[in-house]
Amino acid sequence: MTAYDYDLFVIGGGSGGVRAGRVAASLGKRVAIAEEYRFGGTCVIRGCVPKKLFVYASQYAEHFEDAAGYGWDVGESTFDWKKLIAAKDKEIARLEGLYRRGLENNGAEILETRAELVDAHTVRLTKTGKTVTAEKIVIATGGWPNPHAALPGHEFCISSNEAFDLPELPRSILIAGGGYIAVEFANIFHGLGVDTTLIYRGKEILSRFDHDLRQGLHRAMVEKGIRIVLTDVIEEVTRAAAGGLVAKTLNGETIAVDTVMLALGRDPNTRGLGLEAAGVAVNERGAIVVDEYSRTSVPNIYALGDVTDRVQLTPVAIHEAMCFIETEYRNNPTAPDHQLIPTAVFSQPEIGTVGLSEEEAARRYPELEIYRAEFRPMKATLSGRAEKMIMKLVVDAASRKVVGAHVLGHDAGEMAQLLGISLKAGVTKDDFDRTMAVHPTAAEELVTMYNPSYRVRNGERV
Ligand SMILES: Cc1cc2nc3c(=O)[nH]c(=O)nc-3n(C[C@H](O)[C@H](O)[C@H](O)COP(=O)(O)OP(=O)(O)OC[C@H]3O[C@@H](n4cnc5c(N)ncnc54)[C@H](O)[C@@H]3O)c2cc1C
Repeated sequence: MTAYDYDLFVIGGGSGGVRAGRVAASLGKRVAIAEEYRFGGTCVIRGCVPKKLFVYASQYAEHFEDAAGYGWDVGESTFDWKKLIAAKDKEIARLEGLYRRGLENNGAEILETRAELVDAHTVRLTKTGKTVTAEKIVIATGGWPNPHAALPGHEFCISSNEAFDLPELPRSILIAGGGYIAVEFANIFHGLGVDTTLIYRGKEILSRFDHDLRQGLHRAMVEKGIRIVLTDVIEEVTRAAAGGLVAKTLNGETIAVDTVMLALGRDPNTRGLGLEAAGVAVNERGAIVVDEYSRTSVPNIYALGDVTDRVQLTPVAIHEAMCFIETEYRNNPTAPDHQLIPTAVFSQPEIGTVGLSEEEAARRYPELEIYRAEFRPMKATLSGRAEKMIMKLVVDAASRKVVGAHVLGHDAGEMAQLLGISLKAGVTKDDFDRTMAVHPTAAEELVTMYNPSYRVRNGERV
């Protein structure tokens, strides 16, 4: 048997890589993990965590306004961007420390370097040029914001990476994209007082989500004062003589702003990784091709998380890592389960969703019952805020199974987590009907929608 330096070498210290490395080390495997930037990866350093902290920060303006209806006089309030950045940096440094300690305490060797494949069992550490060998290799290098290099002036634009560390809060921003990152940042910047425009080439933001929620969120964002430009794209970005940037759009608009942010998808981090030398196949998007067990075209090399371009979410990367551990180190071959993934968009109002949208369900089932409620949440009564919640259950009429559950409004993400358990357990509409309401809550609406709002038969609303 060949003596390798390690049982497992993990490339990338993000959500998936750290989990795979830490658990393998805890099982007594000789593990090394290389990270070229900061442990914790996208989620901790420039993704989910700082994003959610910014979401909280951006909600205070509305909280202060709403307080008046409840008898509070908050007085003058000011916001300090630099203080927020410093507080956020402190928190992510703390989390990064936890990730590192978790690895170290379990005996994994931490390597602060970029790593590239030399062959199926050999990795080069670029900091020193040293090569090491491993019996198995996990590639968990994540993704990177698509820079839209074909756009003239793209070099003047920022991505979500820079948005977390801007030296000054811009007075105005134009955000290109219609996915959840673009939508969340539009709400964040608007909430912090930035004049915000969102531009998206599609007919409605957040494709693939249920149309009701997409339209409901769109309306709410516009009512707050966010400008949304649809079916248009930025054609060119130039520097303005007076400072700031000017974006010209395909439909002939000229939009002058301090900052342009591109949120046009994320590319798998595979460039220069030595995949060809090792014989690891990628698809046309540069994502590593894997089988149902996350195994690449080279049997001892696995890939997991965003670099495989399956579902780009932290819990999915972690789940894929745990399946790798089960398969390789616990003699229990386990394929990741990508069905019924609950998810949230931390917009304002929030979206929480699990299962099929009405449109997707209509393609799969001959008849659907749709239960839908739109109402003003209790909190908005005294605050006077004109906001609506939407709740929607998509039910297969034949089996009574709830195949989709969608919420727009406060705490929708929290609700989606619990709805996710129910749907995973195969809940029927009758189970919802048998469940006692928690009163007074917004979520009680989910168990008190007794009659279908409408039906969808063979794709037609009846
Ligand atoms: C703005 C934003 C908000 C997000 N919000 C959410 C959210 O709310 N909820 C959610 O579930 N997901 C969210 N995500 C997605 C989530 O961050 C990713 O799905 C998750 O981080 C993927 O984990 P990963 O392990 O695949 O890769 P990553 O976490 O990206 O980790 C990859 C790591 O590999 C390192 N690396 C790359 N190449 C090399 C190399 N050759 N050698 C050494 N190291 C290397 C990178 O520096 C990085 O640290 C968000 C992402 C972004 C950008």
